[in-house]
Amino acid sequence: MSSGSNSLMWFRKGLRIHDNQALEYAANNSTHVYPVFVIDPHFMKPDPNAFSPGSNLAGLNRIRFLLESLVDLDSSLKKLGSRLLVLHGEPTDVLIRCLKEWDIKRLCFEYDTDPYYQALDRKVKNYASESGIEIFSPMSHTLFNPSEIIEKNGGKPPLSYLPFLKLAGEPDWSISSLSVIPPIGDLKNCEVSEVPTVKQLGYEDIHEEDPPLFKGGESEALRRLQESTNNKEWVANFERPKGDPSAFIKPSTTMLSPYLKFGCLSSRYFYHCIKEIQKEVKNHTSPPVSLIGQLIWRDFFYTVGFGTPNFDRMRGNAICRQIPWNDDDELLAAWRDARTGFPWIDAIMVQLRKWGWIHQLARHSVACFLTRGDLFVHWEKGRDVFDRLLIDSDWAINNGNWLWVSCSSFFYQYKRIHSPISFGKTYDPTGTYIRHFLPVLKDMPNEYIYEPWKAPLSIQQKAKCIIGKDYPKPVICHDDASKECKRKLAAAFKLNKKLNGVVSDEDMKELRRKLAEDQGEGTDSGRLKQKLI
Ligand code: FAD
Repeated sequence: MSSGSNSLMWFRKGLRIHDNQALEYAANNSTHVYPVFVIDPHFMKPDPNAFSPGSNLAGLNRIRFLLESLVDLDSSLKKLGSRLLVLHGEPTDVLIRCLKEWDIKRLCFEYDTDPYYQALDRKVKNYASESGIEIFSPMSHTLFNPSEIIEKNGGKPPLSYLPFLKLAGEPDWSISSLSVIPPIGDLKNCEVSEVPTVKQLGYEDIHEEDPPLFKGGESEALRRLQESTNNKEWVANFERPKGDPSAFIKPSTTMLSPYLKFGCLSSRYFYHCIKEIQKEVKNHTSPPVSLIGQLIWRDFFYTVGFGTPNFDRMRGNAICRQIPWNDDDELLAAWRDARTGFPWIDAIMVQLRKWGWIHQLARHSVACFLTRGDLFVHWEKGRDVFDRLLIDSDWAINNGNWLWVSCSSFFYQYKRIHSPISFGKTYDPTGTYIRHFLPVLKDMPNEYIYEPWKAPLSIQQKAKCIIGKDYPKPVICHDDASKECKRKLAAAFKLNKKLNGVVSDEDMKELRRKLAEDQGEGTDSGRLKQKLI
């Protein structure tokens, strides 16, 4: 231990003790360690004008989850002789003040590939290197180091799974444990607080789902991991895309994504636990469909996101097809607020808002419906809604999957559409899921539960649900809308191919004009075709 050396451990994600290389490094090389979390107004400032309770960027479910994770982290740090120091403000300002005030010689934090943190880190690193402060910033949020994979692939991220898998190999893993953390030194003039409550941050403490489905924190993450991996046969036989998106009493996947998002659970530890099970149960599934395969999908999107400029938008993104999406706020709001009139879609959107989590295939259903399947609304708009409402909202994974489902990148079979009527029916013919999340439809007979607008008025009256009054009429006609989407995608794909993906604003304008002209006026799908121009 170097004498008189103070380290600052800056927590952002990686809200855990286990497999935390930055924390271990700080603990093993310092006389004092200051474990810090900064409440950043960029993510946390309440926004009363947002469409759901929360800040401008994050819904309350996610904010609550984060605060619970901080409380848990604080309590684990206390067991190791330390505690969490919470500060408020713009993170680089706060950090630089602390580095000066506490005479920090070593700054430790987990490397983060998200553009927001890349920008913050650049500023903090610049200050630190000018001031002679050592920086230790390991890559521990993912299984692999995206930079290394990109380098192995000749400077570009691999854009499909199997080449990625080959390059990735096996993640490093060594079991580590921390039994004690050096004490915190003098806090001097830095104003630190306890972890605030939702109310102290200025939010009304309302629960969309009572009790909430997810409790934040490493302790809960490890408990849930244990629970998920108790059934070794289930882990070994896990197979995507099998699994029922309508299963809500006992969902068909691990539901560990919120814990991975905040790093309450280490993906490498999760991987290691599955590998141990696979040693015992020899007959197991393999990537991409296995549970390990899902963790590798996570790394895949992290790597592509890290190596692709403008990954989070259509324009200027070299791997994204240029498509003349609509800018229709009315349809977007109907989708977002569970008012499309398609019970399968609306029930999923209610679950998303209440739970902050939905099954992968449910995500596919609603994302396909909003974009290339029916409404033809820009994927970036849907991405923003997910970004706000999901607890597991993750920059690389969310953008990657929206690019995928909208047929903008990775997957291009735009004729394969999830029907908002028949897809859910194959899993849940009697509509138990719909009745749970949309109680207004609870007495609708099975025959009409996916298409209540087809129920005769007498049946609607008997079910105490008049379509158009108690529950909306469908915002579009699915058959017409999906045909229209396919027509537009065919034209857009042709143009992208012709121009080798370099589609200018002028080209896009011309494409929109041609599509509107070809569509013609006065056809009888009325609102739909008006909307989809
Ligand atoms: P499990 O099936 O138990 O899988 C274990 C872990 O593997 C997950 O927790 C997750 O970390 C990873 N994983 C699983 N599927 C994927 C995938 N398709 N891509 C990348 N990683 C995956 N997942 C997020 O974590 N954050 C997001 O913001 C997000 N946005 C999505 C948006 C859309 C439009 C779609 C279609 C999917 C999105 N996903 C996102 C991926 C996936 O739906 C969730 O990771 C998964 O449903 C989480 O549930 P689980 O933990 O039970 O997953």
